[in-house]
Amino acid sequence: MVVQDWKRFQNDLGEKALLLSESISITAPKAMLRKDYWSLYLSLKNMASKGPGARSEHEIIDAMILDAEGLVQAHLHPAKHPIGLVFSPDNEAEKAISSQAMGARTPTVLSSGGFSQDGFQEGVVPLFSDQKYLGVVRVRLSVVSLFEKAKSTAVIVLLSILLFVFIGSLLGTIVSRRVVGPLTAITHGLEAVGRGEMTDFSPIPVKEGDEIGRLSVTFNQIMSELAEKKMLEEEIAMSEKLVALGRITAGVAHEVNNPLAGLLNCIDTLRQHPNDKELIDRYLPVIDQGLHRIKDIVHNLLVGLKNEDSDEMINIQQVDKLHDLILAEIGERDIKIYWNNTADRDTCIPGKTEQIICNLLKNAVEIIPENGTIDFNMYQEGRRLVIKVSDNGPGVASNIRNQLFDPFFTTKPNGTGLGLWVVYRLVQNMQGIIEVESELGKGTTFLIELPVINRQAA
Ligand code: ADP
Ligand code: MG
Repeated sequence: MVVQDWKRFQNDLGEKALLLSESISITAPKAMLRKDYWSLYLSLKNMASKGPGARSEHEIIDAMILDAEGLVQAHLHPAKHPIGLVFSPDNEAEKAISSQAMGARTPTVLSSGGFSQDGFQEGVVPLFSDQKYLGVVRVRLSVVSLFEKAKSTAVIVLLSILLFVFIGSLLGTIVSRRVVGPLTAITHGLEAVGRGEMTDFSPIPVKEGDEIGRLSVTFNQIMSELAEKKMLEEEIAMSEKLVALGRITAGVAHEVNNPLAGLLNCIDTLRQHPNDKELIDRYLPVIDQGLHRIKDIVHNLLVGLKNEDSDEMINIQQVDKLHDLILAEIGERDIKIYWNNTADRDTCIPGKTEQIICNLLKNAVEIIPENGTIDFNMYQEGRRLVIKVSDNGPGVASNIRNQLFDPFFTTKPNGTGLGLWVVYRLVQNMQGIIEVESELGKGTTFLIELPVINRQAA
């Protein structure tokens, strides 16, 4: 804006200089022919004192009339440039301008100095009499006052811009604080929910009645309800844990304590009759069996609890080793097993998965009669790992369906009732799901989906 204004000012000034020169050029030729130097000088002098340049901001800094040879005919400063002598420019730049002026054959504007206070605009008008070139009139106007004006305009414009920028960014900061403040708090809150940490949530201070304010109110409500739900869930989980613990304690008391009492009795009897061969033959196998059972129970309990906290990862191919293990378990029996593992070869899964599969397969082998078949399927669906273990065994009666996963629930004479309890705990621990489908006399399918699959190569 300032630069454009400055250019327009300069053009206007140039035109004014030209007008002044032209006003002189009307009378100058006659006076020159008459060699009337005095009236030439007066015309310059009058122009300088009365002309528009005198009162306006355009100061006339120079004016002269030269003849065709460049001799001074009249000059505003006669003492410096006497009449009759060749006009002598002050410096090289002036010399160039002078020769341009002497070469002009039509009215021309010469200008100098860009955006500076030394700049000027000079109107040059050649003088003719009957087509004969007589010389030239030069009137030079200074841009100094214009320059000062433009400079202050520029400063005002700059200061205004700075002021606007400052006020703008101040307003922007205030507005964005008001908007972003609650939003940041909401984001932090949601992130906490994402991490499952509800406890450290503090309500967002609500200030305004606008959308943000309403959003904050709603958000606070949601968060406090979520926190309450979480607390209830924790309470329920806690009481469930206590119930489970109670069952385990009762189970251990029953399954371990009772046989122990019997076993101690046997040992007592043996101690009283150390040489009774018949007694020894009868009681030793009983003691052996009883101790093995207790060992099984303790082992199962320990495996379930130990694996729960393990973060060990295994390659998915390791699962295929269970195939051989289960074939060994089947031994001579007439049971077919169809093994189908199509999960990505380089997938890593939690090591607990092995224990889950092992327990399910063992149950199937234990329960199906001769000629039975077991189907093992494992595959990936997106980021979920699906495991299916099916058998064509007797199925599960509906009245015991919801006891299957209870600790120590068993229908087998020598069962521990801990296999499915361990499976259930491990699946829960991995945030997976487990489902049972069963039809009496037809068979049973255990379906497990585990969410987290770690894709890094083993
Ligand atoms: P255990 O095998 O020591 O009995 P589990 O917890 O592994 O203990 O199993 C609990 C009970 O669930 C079994 O006793 C059995 O009655 C029932 N069960 C488990 N798997 C199957 C199956 N594949 N088909 C039918 N019933 C089953
Ligand atoms: Mg079992």
